[in-house]
Amino acid sequence: MDVKIEIDKGSGFCFGVVKAINKAEEELSKDGILYCLGDIVHNSNEVDRLGSKGLITIDREKMKSLNNVKLLLRAHGEPPQTYEIAKENNIEIIDATCPVVIKLQQKIKKVFDLTDSSSTIIIIFGKNGHAEVNGLVGQTNGTAIVVETEDDLHNIDFSKDIYLFSQTTKSLDHFKSVIDIIKNRMEPTAKFTYFDTICRLVANRMSAIRDFATSHDIVFFVSDKKSSNGKVLFNECLSVNKSTFFINDKTDVHISMIKNASSIGICGATSTPKWQMEEVASQIKNLL
Ligand code: SF4
Repeated sequence: MDVKIEIDKGSGFCFGVVKAINKAEEELSKDGILYCLGDIVHNSNEVDRLGSKGLITIDREKMKSLNNVKLLLRAHGEPPQTYEIAKENNIEIIDATCPVVIKLQQKIKKVFDLTDSSSTIIIIFGKNGHAEVNGLVGQTNGTAIVVETEDDLHNIDFSKDIYLFSQTTKSLDHFKSVIDIIKNRMEPTAKFTYFDTICRLVANRMSAIRDFATSHDIVFFVSDKKSSNGKVLFNECLSVNKSTFFINDKTDVHISMIKNASSIGICGATSTPKWQMEEVASQIKNLL
């Protein structure tokens, strides 16, 4: 039986990640060593690939102990505190913050600077502890409240003015449902303003990836478990095709998964490298 194997053309690195990786490779080709604050991309295979070229991934504690080095800030962005530490330690910043994230940080900072925190609440709809969200909360001196689910809205004081922003990789539908709940709970004297700050690269992938998943018997969604948009996009595939498998890499593909399929799709997150999806396609061919 002829089995069709297709890699989703829309899957793979977004331009923010491409830009960060290009910057890293450019610096590594000059110096052979570059520090990076946190994983450059939520994909351990790609982190290892760049690691073999000299990229050293560090955390904030390690950063504090470094001096006179070059440090890459990844696409997720950082809070102002990171730039202050760099200045104190004479660390040269190679800033690969995605332009979409920079715009969002500036928007939040502007609202924070123009409002009175005693009568205003800034809410970030996003994942607590996620690097991008930490960078966004940092624009408000740590005062913004992070809301992950509808349950987190129970502690909000709806008599205060509310400004709502979203992490760039959240689902648009989920964001809309949070907006509706807040609208309903606001007290008449308070003002509610929200900004749709979801990155369209991710949002637009939702329907495209659903179409892709529908058109195959079996789908392999390749991503690292750490990727936020990986989880969102995987769930989109699963919602239309129950035979969708979340895999880390080619070693997770087994013959039992594919033996009855006539059409197999391979797709991934904005942090999944193309080469990794190609490896999965080769593995499937080998097994067949
Ligand atoms: S998903 Fe969008 S906001 Fe996030 S890095 Fe990619 S392009 Fe930038």
